[in-house]
Amino acid sequence: MFRKLHYKLTGLCALITMGILFLFAILYLCASEHTLKENHALSFQHDFDTLCSSLEQQQTLTYRYLLQLEKNGGFYLFLWDSGTPLLFNSIDSHVPVLGLAQEIHASYQENVADAGDDPLRLFYQEMDVPPAEDGSCPISMQAGISMIYTGQTAAVSGLQTRQKENGLVLLVLSPQDDFFRQLSRQRLLFGLLSLSGCLFLILFAYLFTGRLLRPIRENQERQLQFVANASHELRTPLAVILSSIDARPPHYERTIREEVLRMSRLVDSMLTLTNLEDHSLKLQLSPLAPDTFLLDIYEQFEPLALQKNIAMNLILPEEAVPSILADSDRLKQLLLILLQNAVSYTPPGKGITLRLFSADRYICFQVADQGIGIDDHEKEKIFERFYRVDRSHHQKEHFGLGLCLAREIAAAHHGRIEVSDTVGGGSTFTCYFPLEFK
Ligand code: ADP
Repeated sequence: MFRKLHYKLTGLCALITMGILFLFAILYLCASEHTLKENHALSFQHDFDTLCSSLEQQQTLTYRYLLQLEKNGGFYLFLWDSGTPLLFNSIDSHVPVLGLAQEIHASYQENVADAGDDPLRLFYQEMDVPPAEDGSCPISMQAGISMIYTGQTAAVSGLQTRQKENGLVLLVLSPQDDFFRQLSRQRLLFGLLSLSGCLFLILFAYLFTGRLLRPIRENQERQLQFVANASHELRTPLAVILSSIDARPPHYERTIREEVLRMSRLVDSMLTLTNLEDHSLKLQLSPLAPDTFLLDIYEQFEPLALQKNIAMNLILPEEAVPSILADSDRLKQLLLILLQNAVSYTPPGKGITLRLFSADRYICFQVADQGIGIDDHEKEKIFERFYRVDRSHHQKEHFGLGLCLAREIAAAHHGRIEVSDTVGGGSTFTCYFPLEFK
């Protein structure tokens, strides 16, 4: 179920982000092509103007000079003197575009008629040229046409009307293949970049949604495990009760009562744990003096420890300890869990020390026993629900929920529990409660 959901979320997330990426990439590409085209046209105009002015300065136009101009600029030049094409127009290199040049010139002649007093710089445009049969013709051209006055005396303003019949007409055709190649290269680059962006986004979406789903999946697994463990724990007392009712051995009522109490303790623990975890359990917070609180617990618990021949020791700080805000019932529950564990896992003749101290901005309650101790690799696991270290499995009154409950109670008070080894053997549990917790 989670795998399918993961794939679906990945697809959705990737589609949305790729859509946004494509939109911006296309917008950027359009803007960039527009600028490129404008710059290309400007550069052609500039070359064209330079060409016109250099022709204007010539007294005589030689083939050599014109061929050199063409070669330098990569243009096709066409010249008409008072409407008559120069011989230069018919040389070999012009063959592929000669027809086009004639067409443009004819259209220019019409424009001259329409343009009235302004025959200069009549024509500038971009045009597509159909490919020649031998494929030699460029696909697109830029064209510029201008009337150039080659005489010495007339000023440009005077030239416009007086000289238009006798002027030298220049047509420049510039192939655009390089420019279009540049455009295609840019589009290809954009395409490749967008494609790699998409691959990256799919990978990102997969990892991102996987990360989002992980806590939900873990939570569901924990819930399932919890239900399985709880059912397992409840099955044993129920089986004992059923067999006691059927067989009715001596004192069977007592057995049933004990098992019912066991079940009720288990159900209580599970309920408290669930409520603490989903924060539906409201703590009854009130100021609490840690030293008198710990003294009370010590006095209540000491007889129980003595019954098992375990010595109890209480260490309180000499200086006054500030009070903390806490739910005294829950805090007591926490310390009793630690003390009961300490008594359960400490052999007779050994001792348990209950200690209060302040460290940094915390008030610390510590339960240190001289019992069997906890292996390092078990130290984190013992706080998991229903976790019991193997060697204590046989103990019927232990469900493996105590420390988990204790940790949740500490967390509800913004505190924490740490476990370490007691010097000389045993385990030490230290609970840290922040002083400024309100
Ligand atoms: P349980 O009800 O089994 O005591 P807990 O959650 O309180 O459940 O403890 C989990 C496990 O941690 C226990 O089964 C036990 O193996 C280990 N443990 C807890 N406290 C101690 C201790 N003081 N000394 C040694 N082992 C302990």
